[in-house]
Amino acid sequence: MIDIFSKELIIHLYCLQPNELTGSGSRTAMPDPNERTDIDGIAVSPHHFIGGRRVASDHTFAVRSPLDWNLRLADVSRGTRRTAEMAVAAAVKGFHRWSALKPSERATVLCRLADLIDAHAAEIAAIECLDMAMLHESLQRRLVPRGALNFRNYAELVAGYEERCWSSKGTRNRVVRDPAGPAVIITPWNAPFMLSTWKLAPALAAGNSVILKPAEWSPLSASLLADLANEAGFPEGAFNVVQGLGSEVGADLVSDPRVRRISFTGSPETARHIGVAAAQNIVPFTAELGGKGPLIVFADADIEAAARKAAAQFEDSGQVCLAGTRLLVESSVKSEFMEHFVLYTEQHVYGDSRDPGTTLSAAIHPVHLERVEGFVRRAREAGDRIIFGGQRFEAGKLWYQPTLIEPASNESEVVQKEIFGPVLTLQTFDSEPQAVGLANSTEYGLSGIVYTSDAKRAERMGRAVRAGTVWVNTFLVRDLTAPFGGCGISGIGREGGDYALDFHSDLKTVQILEGSVR
Ligand code: NAD
Repeated sequence: MIDIFSKELIIHLYCLQPNELTGSGSRTAMPDPNERTDIDGIAVSPHHFIGGRRVASDHTFAVRSPLDWNLRLADVSRGTRRTAEMAVAAAVKGFHRWSALKPSERATVLCRLADLIDAHAAEIAAIECLDMAMLHESLQRRLVPRGALNFRNYAELVAGYEERCWSSKGTRNRVVRDPAGPAVIITPWNAPFMLSTWKLAPALAAGNSVILKPAEWSPLSASLLADLANEAGFPEGAFNVVQGLGSEVGADLVSDPRVRRISFTGSPETARHIGVAAAQNIVPFTAELGGKGPLIVFADADIEAAARKAAAQFEDSGQVCLAGTRLLVESSVKSEFMEHFVLYTEQHVYGDSRDPGTTLSAAIHPVHLERVEGFVRRAREAGDRIIFGGQRFEAGKLWYQPTLIEPASNESEVVQKEIFGPVLTLQTFDSEPQAVGLANSTEYGLSGIVYTSDAKRAERMGRAVRAGTVWVNTFLVRDLTAPFGGCGISGIGREGGDYALDFHSDLKTVQILEGSVR
């Protein structure tokens, strides 16, 4: 079946070639791999980082800022099959060097990288803010420090790991975690820095070498991370970054048989392609994919707190996979909820993400915003009711109004498909089973948010909502040792804590006949 909302079709509809979409070009002179692009006073390499050095490609793709689409930030090297081959060859060598280190030695390097991230947090936040328009405040305060924490957390986990040992059937058993080999890490354009560290840290801690392929719409913070990894002292080839388009160098990387793990975050459509490549080479892969989370408000809840959190789902232009985008509100408190929800929504300020007062950021890319607009247009045509919003703040710019839609039915496209923009739906329910039925009625299963003051209901809903994570009376608080992932088309596998270390290892059981050795 053709997915009528795929990026490919949007490219086709707008008569754009992928090159034009990404503004790609050729270099006229031999590129200097050590050249840097000055972005707001920060020197960023636009090139790959392979085998401990910068490598340039002949072709480039343009990176523009969503804050000002006329602002061309950089022309970034556009990797080819040759780049992928070079990166995997370097990662194979890097794997031998890195996996030979003791876990405690690897932990030392990971901690050094964490310290360097903290020391360069301002630059990382500034570049990421320009690159994908995420709110600077939350980058600086939350997401970049979380990146450092991911490395520290895995340093601690791997250094403190105790192998499971026990006796049975006359043998001594021991579970050994063997590093698996080179791992390819593919990340999406939203929150690229934090999400990449979330995946890189366990892969490296487990002893694997890594090749990070960031998204072509926001590739710049990965380049800063490569500089810091270089400074932290990873052996050559242990930490590699390849830039380029997913359908080109991304596809080449995931189909290389020397790659032994693939960790992907992105859309279900791309996961299907990567899954085929992984199956071809019998390579384990994890996929953290899209969501369509319910935010369920029971009459017994703190309605104002629930409404405040619901209005917060518009932040970062709704480009948050875990967002609670389907508001399910108990009928008896709908008016009270709406009163607070509208008030909190009106307090949002759209504008430049670098300004501390801004709460609504721009969409990442014109093509993405046109996709969001397509959802709202089709909702109107299908008879869904637009309660508020439904257009850009200013024509030609990338800020979209917070939008609330009352769907004509639960089958409406805006209820069933991930929009990934500042667009929420509102539905009501009259009983707990009805709320559960609505919550579990999409193909997704990434996250759920429940507001209730009833402890028993909190437990029941936590179990009943089909999702990788269910939050009750809170949102986005995470313990890094907990499993993370999705059900249904929201993903395969679990990351986080030991779950990710197990994924990146070949678990081996060693059994020694008791009394047979001295
Ligand atoms: P996407 O699937 O279009 O791209 C993700 C990455 O895959 C990019 O780096 C891209 O270059 C690469 N890619 C594309 N085709 C490829 C191929 N054939 N082989 C290898 N790599 C390929 O997703 P996106 O639009 O960048 O990100 C948005 C999606 O990510 C949304 O669905 C969102 O919900 C999801 N997401 C999920 C989580 C999570 O933790 N579950 C977190 C963030 C984003």
